[in-house]
Amino acid sequence: MATMGAELAPAPGTALRERITDGPSGYTGVEATPEWAAEVKRLARQRNATILAHNYQLPEIQDVADHVGDSLALSRIAAEAPEETIVFCGVHFMAETAKILSPEKTVLIPDERAGCSLADSITAAELREWKAEHPGAVVVSYVNTTAAVKGLTDICCTSSNAVDVVASIDPDREVLFLPDQFLGAHVKRETGRENIHIWMGECHVHAGINGDELNAQARAHPDAELFVHPECGCATSALYLAGEGEFPADRVHILSTGGMIDAARAAKSSQVLVATEIGMLHQLRKAAPGIDFQAVNDRAACKYMKMITPAALLRCLEENRDEVHVDPDTAALARHSVQRMIEIGNPGGGE
Ligand code: SF4
Repeated sequence: MATMGAELAPAPGTALRERITDGPSGYTGVEATPEWAAEVKRLARQRNATILAHNYQLPEIQDVADHVGDSLALSRIAAEAPEETIVFCGVHFMAETAKILSPEKTVLIPDERAGCSLADSITAAELREWKAEHPGAVVVSYVNTTAAVKGLTDICCTSSNAVDVVASIDPDREVLFLPDQFLGAHVKRETGRENIHIWMGECHVHAGINGDELNAQARAHPDAELFVHPECGCATSALYLAGEGEFPADRVHILSTGGMIDAARAAKSSQVLVATEIGMLHQLRKAAPGIDFQAVNDRAACKYMKMITPAALLRCLEENRDEVHVDPDTAALARHSVQRMIEIGNPGGGE
């Protein structure tokens, strides 16, 4: 029986919460201990929330999440989840896409400062201006774009269906493809289309995985398979190596992050070189533990993805922040372009 005047036990997780500090690279101060994981799960249950984590998240965030995947798969899970609250561990445009597809749900991101250099490479104002220069052109945007840019887009695409989306457009109409120049170059090459204009945006992480590194790695590991994300600066180089017979074409796979997981399960080589953000290695190693997965560039880490720290996730669940809002009119327009993407070809998972 409780004694009058006895001190109340502190609320669960109090000691953990007191350690959270905010700094220039985000929220820090909390380690991913079993106590932290238990507190995250308890708060998620209390809030009727489901936790989604992108493939590029820190391993400890992936391990505590209810679902791990690529951006599109996660948005679909968000739309179908019975929970009222979605905690999206990824970057801001991804959480926006989940909100666009599930406007009635509360969508939270553990740190709203987690942006994306690729999505930021074109603003809605710049796209309006570009459209004015090419009246009548069809606008195709990769999913790594803000809700405002999606609202000005005719069809969104992922890396898996970008070629199908562009091939489905009347050959006499101009196409504006944005924002990624490497994916755009891949689409132009595959479709042979001349009337396609490509925005010269890039992701600083993927652009940093270059052809020289790929060539060196390919030569050092002649029996390995090669998984390349089409946003990589080296995607062209990978196709070139295959074309020159330096790397057998059947061992080069240009894949979205979701496609990489399927390909890992089907891979026949004992070693796979992976050209994308290094967070991807965690899920690949879990999917195919018998394969030695190596990064083409082990410095390819996205600082924005890594802003979703154990401290940020704890704060998010504790304080119900940061909530993601998309203006309803913009969301309606953006939803239309995202739905057209889902209707064409195999949309795969985007990044
Ligand atoms: S890896 Fe590149 S494209 Fe992906 S979220 Fe980071 S900055 Fe954006």
